[in-house]
Amino acid sequence: MQTKLRRLLMNKKHQNNLISYSGVNLKFIADASLARLAKWMRLLGYDTVVYSKEAGREMLRQADAEGRIVLTRRRDMVGRQFSGILFLVTDVIVSKQLKAVIEKYFLKVDREKMFSICLECNRKLHSIEKNEVRDLVPQYVFENCNRYNQCPRCGKIYWMGTHPRNALRFIEKHIPSHLP
Ligand SMILES: [Zn+2]
Repeated sequence: MQTKLRRLLMNKKHQNNLISYSGVNLKFIADASLARLAKWMRLLGYDTVVYSKEAGREMLRQADAEGRIVLTRRRDMVGRQFSGILFLVTDVIVSKQLKAVIEKYFLKVDREKMFSICLECNRKLHSIEKNEVRDLVPQYVFENCNRYNQCPRCGKIYWMGTHPRNALRFIEKHIPSHLP
């Protein structure tokens, strides 16, 4: 974790600076019980790895090596020796979890950033030409949408359609103050 960023995140006095810092791409690592939260973070465009093994020292090591903020539901993780940033998620409801993380780290909910990361693989999507997706998406989608992205790992194709609309509705409902 970059020291300057870390200092900002930890110091309440610098909250105003933090807001201007929200352009920095914060990255996260979530424990396995937070897999749904991780998908929502990805949907908003935040690189979020799910640590599938039991949360512990190895997870913290990975967080440190990759400069990720740790999201965990395990209270015993709080007392561990760790030089990075760790956030204890106390809610069980995913919308509340998401709201808590957004508020804690001043995350921007930006329509332009949404669906820039594969929800399954956490890989950055690449744009793909419309004519390349003709046989890969439903006909009505092809006729109505001109912009497509694809995951370089699993090949899944994303477009601005049903998913983003539903996602915006979810955010409007649960996190109204954060909708741009
Ligand atoms: Zn993928």
